[in-house]
Amino acid sequence: MLSVYTRHYPPCRHTHANSHRCACPKWIRGRIENAGLIRQSARTNHWAEAEKKAREMEKSMAVKTAASAYLNDERGRKSRTRDSHAEESIHQE
Ligand SMILES: [Zn+2]
Repeated sequence: MLSVYTRHYPPCRHTHANSHRCACPKWIRGRIENAGLIRQSARTNHWAEAEKKAREMEKSMAVKTAASAYLNDERGRKSRTRDSHAEESIHQE
């Protein structure tokens, strides 16, 4: 889950990271399963745009995570198949 926060710079009078009624740069941070900790500039000063970007990042990372999980599963299945063949050949002897 990624969330958007604001990095305030002078002359902005806001101090809270959740304040988004100003034109300070918005950042994205959060933790994504299998991808670790994320912290990067949203490259926008608009909260809504930063939120959109955060959701897009979540989606694209979820796809990558699913793809690597599939590959790991595929690899695991192949080695299991090989093991069962090995067992069969032992039984035949
Ligand atoms: Zn600000």
